[in-house]
Amino acid sequence: MKITALICGGGNGAHVLAGLAPAQPDVEARVLTLFADEAERWTKAMEGKDFSVDCHAGGKVTNVVGKPSIVTKDPAKAAPGVDIIVFTVPAFAHAGYLEALKPYVKPGLVLVGCPGQAGFEFAVRGIWGEAAKGVTIMSFESLPWACRFLEFGRKAEVLGTKGTLQGAVNAGCTAPPMDATAMLQKVLGPLPKLLTSGHLIGITLMATNGYLHPSIMCGHWEKWDGKTMQEPPLFYNGVSKESAQLLSDVSDEVVATAKTLEEKCKGVCMGNVSHMYQWYLRCYGNDIDDKTDLYTCIKTNRAYKGLTHPCTANEDGSFSPNFGYRYMTEDLPFGIVVMRGVATIAGVPTPHMDRIIYWGQKLMGKEYLVDGELKGKDIPSTRSPQAYGINTLEALMGL
Ligand code: NAD
Repeated sequence: MKITALICGGGNGAHVLAGLAPAQPDVEARVLTLFADEAERWTKAMEGKDFSVDCHAGGKVTNVVGKPSIVTKDPAKAAPGVDIIVFTVPAFAHAGYLEALKPYVKPGLVLVGCPGQAGFEFAVRGIWGEAAKGVTIMSFESLPWACRFLEFGRKAEVLGTKGTLQGAVNAGCTAPPMDATAMLQKVLGPLPKLLTSGHLIGITLMATNGYLHPSIMCGHWEKWDGKTMQEPPLFYNGVSKESAQLLSDVSDEVVATAKTLEEKCKGVCMGNVSHMYQWYLRCYGNDIDDKTDLYTCIKTNRAYKGLTHPCTANEDGSFSPNFGYRYMTEDLPFGIVVMRGVATIAGVPTPHMDRIIYWGQKLMGKEYLVDGELKGKDIPSTRSPQAYGINTLEALMGL
């Protein structure tokens, strides 16, 4: 069966998928990028030329040639007749694509967030409304590759491909023409092997960056005395025991939320949610020198070598923390605030999440939590369930 895939985005992941998907048998790939002039630039760059992806694996590089049939900013040209839509853009851009594609949603469509990141399913149901009911929604916890584009609109590079990729599926009331996981696997090729299990909300809760970054930021800077530094401190490898404990406490709240949802909602499986420590062992097992606990997993993780706290350089050459970086501006509204929103509906107390959110919102001039409730004026700009009017367990779980 021929599959037509629509790739949404114009960055690294979109470039790689736009090259790899059309190289698979019976797959047509189209690209929709709404951002700035990316569609025009990409189309021009490809004119009369190849589009290819260099894939690094086992010390070898394979050049995969596969050209998307169209790159456009016009959903009317991109969307009709597609079987599967794959979002490969940061979460803050998802709403724009959902709005643009809404008129073209048809029963039996498969929509994939790759990665979906926290609250993907709330945004889909909130923006597509009734039409979302006929759609099979999938969300994955990361991109399949560590990748970048080398030449815009011409060439991309896969530095590493994951062996497996964890995700979840919510079947629509109209079945797609083939099993949704098999369809996406056909589009991606054999690797990574897609593993789908559990409820979609498990993937929201396992969007770990959404609480990893804010926990380390808060743990490090909460008591900052305003003194500048000679150089930016190490972000992961410089983590303190106190910050790691805060992260572990937030992770306990996430796990408690998942367990409570499973207990309260018959038939719902949240087995795809685990503590951050287990997540590190699963995802970074080969990179960690000391696996004793969460603290040592971060402190001795070679994959993080040299990565520093986001800082700005001052005129005198010293450094100050940058609280306008995505570890705050994206990871609060599209991360920990979403998890707090799920925990609220589950009825799970979240004192540690709240400590981080109160600290972060003040620095960012935002208002999410007020008097211990998610009722601040900036809630509509988050991906929390509350932003989409989802306030009951039934609505949350899509039951
Ligand atoms: P990217 O940084 O390349 O995305 C940039 C693209 O996002 C732009 O090209 C544009 O199409 C869109 N964009 C940027 N600003 C926008 C705006 N203001 N409005 C609308 N669209 C805008 O992203 P990526 O590297 O492809 O990663 C996609 C997601 O996967 C991200 O969430 C990233 O954290 C995650 N991820 C990436 C990698 C990787 O190796 N690249 C690995 C794991 C996970």
